Amino acid sequence: MGKMDPANSRLYIINISHLVTMDADRSIVKDAWIEITDGWITAVGSGQDQEAELKGRECKVIDARQGIVLPGLINTHHHFYQNLARAYTPATNLPLLPWLTCITPLFRNLTAEDLLIATKVAMAELMLTGCTTTVDHHYLFPPSNSGFIDAQFAAAGEMGMRFHAGRGSMDTVSKIIPSWATETVDEIMNDCQRLYDRYHDFSRGSMTRLFLAPSALTCASPDLLKESARMASSLDLGLHIHCGETLEEDQYALDHLGSRQLPFLADCGWETERVWLAHGIHFDDAEIAHLGQRGMGIAHCPCSNMRLGSGICRVGDLQKAGAKVGLGVDGSASNDSSHMLNEARQALLLARVKYGAGAMSTMDALELATTGGASCLGRGDDLGSLEVGKCADLAIFPAEDLFSSGADNAVEALLLCFPRQVETLIINGRVRVRDGRITGLDLPELLASHQTIAGRIQE
Ligand SMILES: [Zn+2]
Repeated sequence: MGKMDPANSRLYIINISHLVTMDADRSIVKDAWIEITDGWITAVGSGQDQEAELKGRECKVIDARQGIVLPGLINTHHHFYQNLARAYTPATNLPLLPWLTCITPLFRNLTAEDLLIATKVAMAELMLTGCTTTVDHHYLFPPSNSGFIDAQFAAAGEMGMRFHAGRGSMDTVSKIIPSWATETVDEIMNDCQRLYDRYHDFSRGSMTRLFLAPSALTCASPDLLKESARMASSLDLGLHIHCGETLEEDQYALDHLGSRQLPFLADCGWETERVWLAHGIHFDDAEIAHLGQRGMGIAHCPCSNMRLGSGICRVGDLQKAGAKVGLGVDGSASNDSSHMLNEARQALLLARVKYGAGAMSTMDALELATTGGASCLGRGDDLGSLEVGKCADLAIFPAEDLFSSGADNAVEALLLCFPRQVETLIINGRVRVRDGRITGLDLPELLASHQTIAGRIQE
């Protein structure tokens, strides 16, 4: 516990009723304060009379008003562009592959401007629900594409979010994926290299990183998988792909590749710690043991898995085996929301449906959304917990309101009661949400643009 040391460049968050640190002991500090210097947490302490200690000093102070502070939540799987087709009527009751066949043609004329707006809307939703770091797995590059991922990095800069952009890819035509939606391996790898040179920042505290992300084994050739693994290894980048989402994809792999998905990926160089797989539902015991031994990660996406009826991820077994497990809201056409705190609630509820009431605690679920996600993204050393030396990314939720009134345990109520929005959000030491509003964003104007684009796309 530190002592307050006021200085002009510093920001203090005071009057925190419960500081949920998510450190190794899962400590919760009551009556806490945090000192932030140049985007880093430089001291944490507790005690009464915090205002008195800072009175008359020139320093920036945010009064948490007895709110609960969580580490900024980390979203490990998403497809932002899909928020232009939320609750799309023809697809609302379909399983994954028919659903994908139904929505993909909508995006044939998607532009960089459309993706920029969709990205800002997705980020706004994530930020208001406690998320400070997000990935996007953008794999659709129609003929109209130009500067798609550049537009996403620009949106992240405007919104002030910590962003890991997945340069997604598809090079194999199928019943699901039309030829206009594919690129050649050379086109894909050249663009990956260009984006790496332009945006990837490997430093501690980085706001922008790139990872390589073929969409799935149903639409990526062995050549694409191998080239992606080779480049990721030589440039030290994350690798991401959908895997183990549905039984239909398992059957596809057996029929077309003559192998289950995981061994096939291993043969293509995808058996490393830099890999995290989206969904990871349909793995057998030996595959789960193998994932753990190799230190690979899983982006668990409970809402999407329920919405598409895909199945239930074996989160506890994966963790016991030593695999990293983070949380993802998945694309907004199969969730159909980007509410990050709600995703943690749904992870808790879904685990209990299959494994009983003791299967996942509130803290277990918050771990998925914080430290679990950080380790999937290779950010265990600077993100995921509120400790001295880590990035100042944090979310302040109201301690008590209509939806939690009467709660005994305020922290448990965050997930057991209706999932709420943040009052304040701080990313990299900067206040990005205050009084429940994103600073510097004209939300009605953004939504008007978004709705116009969605109307055009769904026509
Ligand atoms: Zn997905």
